[in-house]
Amino acid sequence: MHLNDLVGAHFRLMEPQRAALTRLGIETVEDLLYHFPFRYEAGGSEVAIAGLAPGAQVTIIGTIEKLETKKSWKRKIPASEGVLRDDTGKIKCMWFNQPYIAKMYHAGTLVKATGKVAGTGAKMYLANPQLERVSPTEAGLFAQAPQNHSLRGDKQAANPSASGSAEPKLFAQYPESRGVTSLWFRHAIERAVAGSVIENAVDTIPKEILKRYNLPTLATALVWIHTPKSQKDAEAARKRFAFEEVFYIQLARWRERARAAREQSFVIKPSQDDILGFVGSFPFKATLAQSRAIDAVLKDMSSGHAMSRLLEGDVGSGKTAVAATAAFAAVATRPGGQTFGTLQVAYMAPTEILAKQHFESFIQYFKPTPEGRIIISPINIGLITGSGCYKFPSKSARGKATTISRTQLLKWVSNGEIPVVIGTHALIQKSVQFKHLALVIIDEQHRFGTNQRRALAKKEGRLPHLLSMTATPIPRTLALTLYGDLDLTLLDQMPPGRKIIITKIVSPGERELAYEKMRGELAAGRQAYVICPRIDEPDPQKAFALQAKSVKEEAKRLKKDIFPQYRINILHSKMKPKEKDTIMQKFLAHEIDILVATSVVEVGVNVPNATMIFIEGAERFGLSQLHQLRGRVVRSNHQAYCFVCPETRGEKTLARLNALTSAKNGFELAEMDLLQRGPGTLAGREQWGISDVGMEALKNLKLVEAARTEALALIQKDESLALHPLLATALHKRTRAMHFE
Ligand code: ADP
Ligand code: MG
Repeated sequence: MHLNDLVGAHFRLMEPQRAALTRLGIETVEDLLYHFPFRYEAGGSEVAIAGLAPGAQVTIIGTIEKLETKKSWKRKIPASEGVLRDDTGKIKCMWFNQPYIAKMYHAGTLVKATGKVAGTGAKMYLANPQLERVSPTEAGLFAQAPQNHSLRGDKQAANPSASGSAEPKLFAQYPESRGVTSLWFRHAIERAVAGSVIENAVDTIPKEILKRYNLPTLATALVWIHTPKSQKDAEAARKRFAFEEVFYIQLARWRERARAAREQSFVIKPSQDDILGFVGSFPFKATLAQSRAIDAVLKDMSSGHAMSRLLEGDVGSGKTAVAATAAFAAVATRPGGQTFGTLQVAYMAPTEILAKQHFESFIQYFKPTPEGRIIISPINIGLITGSGCYKFPSKSARGKATTISRTQLLKWVSNGEIPVVIGTHALIQKSVQFKHLALVIIDEQHRFGTNQRRALAKKEGRLPHLLSMTATPIPRTLALTLYGDLDLTLLDQMPPGRKIIITKIVSPGERELAYEKMRGELAAGRQAYVICPRIDEPDPQKAFALQAKSVKEEAKRLKKDIFPQYRINILHSKMKPKEKDTIMQKFLAHEIDILVATSVVEVGVNVPNATMIFIEGAERFGLSQLHQLRGRVVRSNHQAYCFVCPETRGEKTLARLNALTSAKNGFELAEMDLLQRGPGTLAGREQWGISDVGMEALKNLKLVEAARTEALALIQKDESLALHPLLATALHKRTRAMHFE
């Protein structure tokens, strides 16, 4: 068996399994070995069947018999059944949803079964026990050391301190997909781990580094992560793989940074007067934080080396004004005595709605004011999206934008007549060619790498400056991991005069009051969001489970019982992009009063007239996510309200939600999420391309900093990784997989 072998070459795969593995991205034996467990279950202590106690977690050694596949009459789900027999008796075993178990073992096989005793009395059975083949000698050992029958099932007393085996075996639990279960993985991977394939796995992390942080080698870590002897081993292995992932990301990032810093870029040096004139034409006074950010950006861009800067600021902190000033600086620079607008700017937004909104804000920022403080003639601004192109100003309609053909827009971009181009991902298509692209501004794009930046400037040969902006509240470890190569500027100050949003935790008795408040606002012409954790109607099969409110049901209920006179519509992730866009446009145009949605509205939309957000099932969201949702309604100078309504009212839940009213900013809330609930609840995690094990690293600032330091040291000594060819190959493979480019 070799790491590069296809899984199918060593394991007999049925079609559903093949499909499931493909879904999980597992092709080779190496992929299989990198499919890590998400947790481990401790096996119980070994006991005999006679006198099993209901509810006990046990391990029994015996022979398995009468295996068969059955369809349970109630659930129509195929299940396996069998009987386990030892010297003292027999017990039924049931495996729900795992029909193939019956095919995996022959009757009479000696196994170790670990699971929970379900049912009572004569109807006791083992539910979904883990099976492991054992050798007769192993079973014999067990037979010679009988357990104290009277205390069987009682964990403490049954702890086999006398039998010599120190810790109960740990069973790895794997992420499943329909067709392959955790058990399949356990069997397959145990076989792979037992073979010589692991000994041949080459460790790409330099030995000195492993030693310095006391991390296990690749071979050891692979054994420990899949078949740990103790929880400690498992943790050491996970730590190594977490380190490995962050280390790779950091290597890629530092290498990008080293390259970018060496590369020539455009010298952007507008005159002081031009900048003062531009900033002076804002309809407001820039905050101190904005001024500082503008200074930092101007300084970066004047050096001749490519800027790589991240601007981090909560929603509403005024990032657009900084972006506009950076764009203006590029446009107002006259290289070699040429005219305004020789250098070009590309501004990329994550959605079409946002691109349109930026386009409109830029038109406002670039408009000559009545006081005539802008010294430039109006410059051309283009908008390019998947569904159409626009240009401002229009020749026919003064002060307005017009639609133009894509061909025309592309022509004007490539001959430099349109210096500022705003768009979605459509901006980075091959067909878009700039004449002198000097600055790239991106909004909420967490994985925009240097290669994309380079691709945008392909004709020029000079790397454009990069200003990356985000309002996503992320903890420091994640910021270091994702943006390790960017200089950071924080907009930690809100524009003055903004009313602070009123956040209220709504108890069941206060729901009516909250609706009353909303009714008042709606009557005054404002709009509202209602957020629900789920999309669909409850599943009647799961009627007993706690059901969160669903968008569809709640929208119906609100229309029927609560706000019959208002226009209510829905928005969720299963809708087509076009449908979503239409709904958002309608909401923006105030053709909808209440938008009932899942958390999809998180991704920055700006509807200044929406001043209320009511969040159902609030404890199901992370604090940083709630903070982002709340950010949707702090867009104007109207008083905004956020009603947070949890389903349960435990002390912990309430304490956690109360942090929404006490925390200073979103970044603080993200730290709390990370510490209290782990990385799973951080807002926006799907976009980062970091694995579950990698995410575990985020709780460990030391580990992230170590990976960062080591990656930097290595790149400083050996930027091309010529001295580390294995690492270079692995990195190449990984960066591709991480979709950096
Ligand atoms: P962000 O992109 O950081 O969420 P925006 O740039 O969209 O924030 O700004 C939010 C709103 O605040 C806009 O309406 C903008 O005109 C306004 N604004 C920005 N800076 C200031 C300021 N210094 N004083 C007053 N209003 C401001
Ligand atoms: Mg913004």
